[in-house]
Amino acid sequence: MSKNVVMVGAGVANVNAATKLIDNGFDGKITIIDMGKDPYLRPYEEVMTGFLGAGGWSDGKLTYHTAIGGQLSKYCGEEKAMELFDQVIDNFKRFHPKPEEVQCSNPIAEPDFIKPYFGLRLFPVWHVGTDYLHEIGKNWYDFLVDGGVEFIWETKVTSIDFDNSELFIGEEESWLDTKNWPISYDKLIFGVGKSGIDFGKQLAEEYDLPTEPKPVQIGVRFEAPQKHFQKLIDVSYDFKLYRKYEDKGVSLRSFCTNNNAAYVAVEETYGDHSYNGHAKKDEAFRNDMTNFGILMEVQGIDKPFDWSRDVVKNLQIDGTGLYYSPTRKPSTTSEGKNVSAIQVDTLHKIAKSMQPYFMYVYDFIEDMKKVFPTLKDDWGIYVPEVKYLSPEPLVDYTNLALTKYPNVHFVGDALSARGITVSGAQGTYVAEHILKN
Ligand SMILES: Cc1cc2nc3c(=O)[nH]c(=O)nc-3n(C[C@H](O)[C@H](O)[C@H](O)COP(=O)(O)OP(=O)(O)OC[C@H]3O[C@@H](n4cnc5c(N)ncnc54)[C@H](O)[C@@H]3O)c2cc1C
Repeated sequence: MSKNVVMVGAGVANVNAATKLIDNGFDGKITIIDMGKDPYLRPYEEVMTGFLGAGGWSDGKLTYHTAIGGQLSKYCGEEKAMELFDQVIDNFKRFHPKPEEVQCSNPIAEPDFIKPYFGLRLFPVWHVGTDYLHEIGKNWYDFLVDGGVEFIWETKVTSIDFDNSELFIGEEESWLDTKNWPISYDKLIFGVGKSGIDFGKQLAEEYDLPTEPKPVQIGVRFEAPQKHFQKLIDVSYDFKLYRKYEDKGVSLRSFCTNNNAAYVAVEETYGDHSYNGHAKKDEAFRNDMTNFGILMEVQGIDKPFDWSRDVVKNLQIDGTGLYYSPTRKPSTTSEGKNVSAIQVDTLHKIAKSMQPYFMYVYDFIEDMKKVFPTLKDDWGIYVPEVKYLSPEPLVDYTNLALTKYPNVHFVGDALSARGITVSGAQGTYVAEHILKN
């Protein structure tokens, strides 16, 4: 067994990893370093840092499906992934002050009227309850401390020497200070979440880590009066329509649906405009509109980041994005200002810039017109919507260790996760590997 396991980040992934080790009588040393605070001291406004990381103050929804929340089955297969999810959910119940209140919402069957044009992604979700996360955190923390885990709080890891298996805390000028001497490890589990994404990138560049090829994610933000979609919204508020063209390496999904008081938002990334959406809770903002992304995931494009950047650049006129509608004008923001976009009369420029992929978006809209018969020409699209995916380090799928440094494991949002269950499961997967060896 590796005697000295050091974990960077006390988030969902590493807390589950440590729990697995303790539960199985790991007889080495476990140290967890986090720049946030322990659960007794962590204030509500520190959303991303401290015990349980972003999961500690999250909505507490534990999704239970391998297609949601990031990748896991890619590494360990479908069956193992579900078993790991069960372990994470059991942990949340185990430290819950009222475990009987953790309920699973059961998905209902896909409604017939969307078939055969679309699939509707339905998945079970365990609801922990945001209000209980604080108490869960304290119980879980006490268990780990009693089990011998050493926590180092309010301490930022600033550099890691993968070649000599040691890490550094604080600013470089302070490294000679005895309290900031490097910390050695036999095994390192790197679980810094979204709050440490820049640190992950910095290490990837410094050590020239090989990365996974990433798909392009690009499309449009679709907007229409809500009444056309009400029948589906009644079934699923944040509906996820999808379709796949397996042989072409293209899949499409509706993404982040907003209803009732739904506004299109302009995002500025790398100096260009793209679109997203948000919903207001206050009834005063009700506009009875629906908006959602129609996002394409395209596999196999060489240099996907550069390709996406070029497409986004080509879709700008006078420093902003485009709007197309057969009948409508762009909407206003929740502050009553026009959504920044240049209205174009034809789809020509859009189709040309997204060549050869725009036809998939066009077909998606045409088929929505069949499924939602009142929609007709009463819609508009803001173009582009884009997700620039950050590079993901290449890992050994059997233990999530860097291919260049087998004693360094990446887990959670720092790898490919985007949710609590997947992050926790990745941590558990690595702990199982450490126990086996
Ligand atoms: C507001 C909000 C609501 C969410 N709601 C849900 C939800 O309902 N369901 C769901 O599945 N997902 C939700 N998520 C996402 C989910 O919380 C994350 O996917 C999950 O917490 C990732 O786990 P992790 O262990 O990878 O990272 P995190 O849980 O984010 O933990 C990372 C930890 O690393 C520490 N850290 C970072 N850099 C350093 C460094 N250099 N040195 C020392 N420590 C460092 C941070 O302090 C943090 O504690 C939500 C996220 C947010 C922000």
